[in-house]
Amino acid sequence: MARVLVGVKRVIDYAVKVRVKPDKTGVVTQGVKHSMNPFDEIAVEEAVKMKEKKLATEVIAVSVGPAQSAEVIRTAMAMGADRGVHVEVPQAEYELLQPIHISKILAKLALDEKADLVILGKQAIDDDANQTAQMTAAVLNWPQGTFCNKIEKTDAGLTITREIDGGLETIKTKIPAVLSADLRLNTPRYATLPNIMKAKKKPLKKVTAKDLGIDTTPRIDIISVEDPPVRQAGATVADVDALVAKLKEGGHI
Ligand code: AMP
Repeated sequence: MARVLVGVKRVIDYAVKVRVKPDKTGVVTQGVKHSMNPFDEIAVEEAVKMKEKKLATEVIAVSVGPAQSAEVIRTAMAMGADRGVHVEVPQAEYELLQPIHISKILAKLALDEKADLVILGKQAIDDDANQTAQMTAAVLNWPQGTFCNKIEKTDAGLTITREIDGGLETIKTKIPAVLSADLRLNTPRYATLPNIMKAKKKPLKKVTAKDLGIDTTPRIDIISVEDPPVRQAGATVADVDALVAKLKEGGHI
């Protein structure tokens, strides 16, 4: 296996309380801490491990997004990716990009870079779409292994253990393939300070969607983004009988 392409998305940090914009067109991103999507850290870790085991020769980290997305590519390089490709999309346009556009971009880069494997996170924690890996595989017409819990190289290709409802499923796939990383695939390493410094010198290529010939016209209109309903205050009841009466009254039992 020569090259592994890893998708790294810059998302609002998982610890931040997300706020909806007053005009309900989206969520507030300005002045908010962002980080690499947690599942993408797992994808990067897996690709870097493959390189360390000499199963891969090069790891390329790709991020599609505004200028700041370069930060997550640097983080991926500090974790061990060899180089990066930043598909720069202005913020306003990026807010309208959907998984189908990202998939087409990643598929084009996978072919241009002659990748043997594309590893993505199973889901981005901002849009929660869980679509990009599946659609990238479809665009490329490559096999897919989603929700990976374990990835093993075999002579014929890969043996993958997948997390499915109620258990694990083992499948075999040929290479090239598109995989998505689930939570228990590995524990991502921290980027150490010396590696963060080294990453600054690694090559980072900048391209646009237009350079790649990908049309990013939105296919979905976002009509309104709303906060979840505020939870109503609870009530205290005197004893179990009162609780049962209340539940009956509410039609819950
Ligand atoms: P989603 O289908 O949006 O839940 O995203 C699934 C995965 O696709 C993410 O975990 C990333 O690995 C990849 N991905 C999604 N959006 C981007 C992006 N803008 N740049 C790079 N990779 C992305």
